[in-house]
Amino acid sequence: MSNPLNSRRVFMLRVACGGAALSATHAFAADPVSNEKLTENDAYAKSMGFRLDSSKVDKVKYPRHAADQKCSSCQLFSGAPGAEWGPCSFFGGRLVNKEGWCRNFKVKKAA
Ligand code: SF4
Repeated sequence: MSNPLNSRRVFMLRVACGGAALSATHAFAADPVSNEKLTENDAYAKSMGFRLDSSKVDKVKYPRHAADQKCSSCQLFSGAPGAEWGPCSFFGGRLVNKEGWCRNFKVKKAA
């Protein structure tokens, strides 16, 4: 015969553990910044024409690319001013070089 108090304790424990797990998941979801540097060999980065150096972008393949377009002037770059590398929200928070570029470049809006 099962003790109803034990069932209640088990239920309360499950609720507490589930809440803790959800909090941990939310903490990771809210902070997409990673320490991983995006490389030009990454398959998705390649498909987006990503280059670590904007001056090396293929001008025939990407005719809308302009010389002044760099990750540091992109809306999706959140590196500290002057930092060599910073997170890019388009690539899940992976770090991109401030001199980089991809075809998802968006002009940074004035603050
Ligand atoms: S989205 Fe912007 S910051 Fe990210 S790689 Fe492309 S140009 Fe750089």
